Amino acid sequence: MSKVTEIFASNVFDDRVMKSRLSAKVYNSLKNTIDLGTRLDPSVADAVAEAMKEWAVEKGATHYTHWFQPLTGITAEKHDSFISPSPDGRVIMDFSGKELIKGEPDASSFPSGGLRATFEARGYTAWDPTSYAFIKGKTLCIPTAFCSYGGEALDKKTPLLRSMQALNKQALRILKLFGNDTVKHVSTSVGPEQEYFLIPQELYDKRKDLIYTGRTLFGSKPPKGQEMDDHYFGVIKPRVEAYMTDLNEELWKLGILAKTQHNEVAPAQHELAPIYATTNIATDHNQLTMEIMQKVAKKHGLVCLLHEKPFAGVNGSGKHNNWSISTDTGVNLLTPGETPYENAQFLLFLCAVIKAVDDYQDLLRISVATAGNDHRLGANEAPPAVISIFLGEELEGILKAIETDTPYEGIEKKVMKLGVSVLPRFTRDTTDRNRTSPFAFTGNKFEFRMLGSSNSIACANIMLNAAVAESLKIYADRLEGAENFEEALHQMIKKTITDHRRIIFNGNGYDDAWIKEATEVRGLLNYRTTPDAIPHLMDEKNVKMLTEHKVFSEEELRSRTEITLENYCKAVVIEANTMEQLARREILPAIEEYAAFVAKTANAKKSLATDLACTYETETVKKLSQLASDAYKSLDKLAAALVKVQGAKDVIEEGYLIRDELLGVMDELRASCDEAETITAAKFWPFPTYDELLFGVR
Ligand code: ADP
Ligand code: MG
Repeated sequence: MSKVTEIFASNVFDDRVMKSRLSAKVYNSLKNTIDLGTRLDPSVADAVAEAMKEWAVEKGATHYTHWFQPLTGITAEKHDSFISPSPDGRVIMDFSGKELIKGEPDASSFPSGGLRATFEARGYTAWDPTSYAFIKGKTLCIPTAFCSYGGEALDKKTPLLRSMQALNKQALRILKLFGNDTVKHVSTSVGPEQEYFLIPQELYDKRKDLIYTGRTLFGSKPPKGQEMDDHYFGVIKPRVEAYMTDLNEELWKLGILAKTQHNEVAPAQHELAPIYATTNIATDHNQLTMEIMQKVAKKHGLVCLLHEKPFAGVNGSGKHNNWSISTDTGVNLLTPGETPYENAQFLLFLCAVIKAVDDYQDLLRISVATAGNDHRLGANEAPPAVISIFLGEELEGILKAIETDTPYEGIEKKVMKLGVSVLPRFTRDTTDRNRTSPFAFTGNKFEFRMLGSSNSIACANIMLNAAVAESLKIYADRLEGAENFEEALHQMIKKTITDHRRIIFNGNGYDDAWIKEATEVRGLLNYRTTPDAIPHLMDEKNVKMLTEHKVFSEEELRSRTEITLENYCKAVVIEANTMEQLARREILPAIEEYAAFVAKTANAKKSLATDLACTYETETVKKLSQLASDAYKSLDKLAAALVKVQGAKDVIEEGYLIRDELLGVMDELRASCDEAETITAAKFWPFPTYDELLFGVR
């Protein structure tokens, strides 16, 4: 492997390349757009396009693509070559500013949730200069936003950028109130920790459920799962290590700061965490990471599973979204400061997050709602579907002292009247690492832990940024008009703590008693499934907040409600169809074959000696027959449920029908088949079993 410092970002048209290849004027203009979010000067586009093309062609690229993130959840690209005919019958490599700035993919096959009628196929991709262009294979990829003819966002990036803008605007107002005029821009950063499974390709190829749905729909528990806790942080097997080495190298070339890798809790499960980056870049990078994880796995004869629950009975995969707010002057606004004044500002931002998470629990829940993630949330391996915040003892103590006007025992025995000057210093709390909380303060950032491993992190961060922007706006409105800033600040922080203390919970989030307390005593929301959660996107307060901050238009929200539910329904219906096919055409025939073999053996034995008991054979055949009949009955029910689902009048009803009528029958069918697996000879079973899949990489 070549030197890491040399290969890092070697395929990225980054600041270094721009500086060396663009004129000072063009570079400065572009840099203003990138760093400060100023509007792009169209006259620089031609120069940038030319430089980009030259750089890309030197690196062997022949094509370019507008790379975007439609609402399918994965990235999309359509490649065009740089070639342009020249009069002498040959070609030149050509790329104009116009082609850089705008693309027109035929967008009719991307989900739009009614925003764009299919006859109006046009959609536009627009260059996002804030995320660097890069080369993948032989293609120059230009990160873009994707919108309809009418300007509505059809992707995840546009609202993400809008949410960052909204937060920037409100945060700057607050900073100004604290006398800070030097900060020009505030943005959020994210470090997403990505979990995944690796299994052998040849076993994957034999499992239609994995191929069609990304998860196993059948499979009895292996004799050994994760109960010994011997995989987490365990020694990495050579084959996995080779994979990780290759993966890191590919990611580094793209300027992705792959940093940490280790084995996770379940056998065959691993994690990769990058160093955090600005949210929109972190989002692009996470999409690329997922794509490259899968690509590199193929090269190693492996398959990388990114589904939230590839295997029942062992932990599924999530993604922790470590999030913070910082200024262009390099200050993390979620770091407790050195001086009381800084701490007052810190407390205000902290309160803004607390208020945001409480007021918009539903939006955060919605942002992670998918069919796959429904298997994890609340299943004692990931946070519950109820949102709460973990703050740790010290912060909790400080907030309590402020709320009750009592001395804070932790550091100084002083009543914390937040006349800023008397607020004591406090240190960041690093003692407790509560792993069960959906939303944990971890010293200088919040870790949102409900995301599923395959989720785009855009959705969660859009909601988080927007909700925090709303808290900050309310604060800024109050404080800007206040006669006595310090008094108003004190009252506001106090009020936030009183009003929102219900969302703070430092205990065990996996405990059933917590869910009871959260919902019955504290009145927190518990949207257990995707169909429960998604329709609330259109709740009046949510539409009001998101449209006021210009993160979404009402039409965009309606379309997203539709698309998210549609994605959920399609995913589960495909699972049901796959189960039906596997049960009818592979599992039942296998059971029959084995039962026939056993019966034949019994007959053969009896023909030797009529008084042989043949208990094993008789009991096995009986049990297998019973299970086959049960499975057959479940198949009938499954077919009936599918008919009902198809008859739904809209996608909301379809979601409810799936939740209430279909999922239970799928579990029932699986239970009979999985039990049959445990008493069928291994060589008769039609596809690789859990123990082979989970322990197959050696
Ligand atoms: P853990 O113990 O949960 O793995 P780490 O401290 O290793 O936590 O950090 C996990 C992720 O959080 C990494 O991607 C890291 O870059 C990111 N991170 C660290 N500091 C910040 C920050 N200020 N803002 C956003 N993400 C951060
Ligand atoms: Mg973490």
